[in-house]
Amino acid sequence: MDVALARSWIAAIAAAVAEQADYLTQLDSAIGDADHGVNLNRGFTAVAAALSSAAEPAAVGDVFVKTGTTLVSKVGGAAGPLYGTAFRAIGKALPAGSSTVDAAELGVALRAGLAAVQKLGAAVPGDKTIVDAYGPAVAAFEKAAEEGLAVAARAAAEAAAEGMRATIEMVARKGRASYLGPRSVGHQDPGATSTWLVFQALADVTR
Ligand code: ADP
Ligand code: MG
Ligand code: MG
Repeated sequence: MDVALARSWIAAIAAAVAEQADYLTQLDSAIGDADHGVNLNRGFTAVAAALSSAAEPAAVGDVFVKTGTTLVSKVGGAAGPLYGTAFRAIGKALPAGSSTVDAAELGVALRAGLAAVQKLGAAVPGDKTIVDAYGPAVAAFEKAAEEGLAVAARAAAEAAAEGMRATIEMVARKGRASYLGPRSVGHQDPGATSTWLVFQALADVTR
């Protein structure tokens, strides 16, 4: 992955979030406060603007640090800080100054992003959150990394989709949905769904 591909990934996330904003918000209206799509769309619109106005970053990691910093500053709610922290951690975990990174290096960085999400939000697998899509996605990415970025990204997107669907049966234990307790069962988690969009975007731009 080079700087241009990193930017393409973020642009693809922004496009997917814009296209699916109503769907994400609908999911959040069932078990939250009906703003997940609005929140992320505002955030990634700001990210796209920040990336296009700034000078071309020299390193892949810089693209993700800028993405994360912008999300943290522009998006309220739970998901903004969580995604922002994830992208900052991904950027910081990549080799400093590198204009290209390989699949193994990106795998390490994605793992660091997951750790940052869990450190900030204290969610574990099964809590019906972002972690339930992100965790399986990183594991699948790492397992396939030797086969190259495109294969790893596809595996990650498939695992994220499976993890997202598995949240339907879960009882929410973190975030607003946890206020519903068992009544959260039967609804797909909005954050796990947007995480699937993130990995699907990576598969799309690397294919
Ligand atoms: P808010 O709930 O503050 O309105 P959003 O609607 O943007 O924020 O995001 C909701 C999503 O955030 C949930 O669907 C869930 O996936 C995720 N989330 C909430 N709390 C946590 C947490 N502690 N750890 C990981 N993800 C979380
Ligand atoms: Mg919400
Ligand atoms: Mg909210």
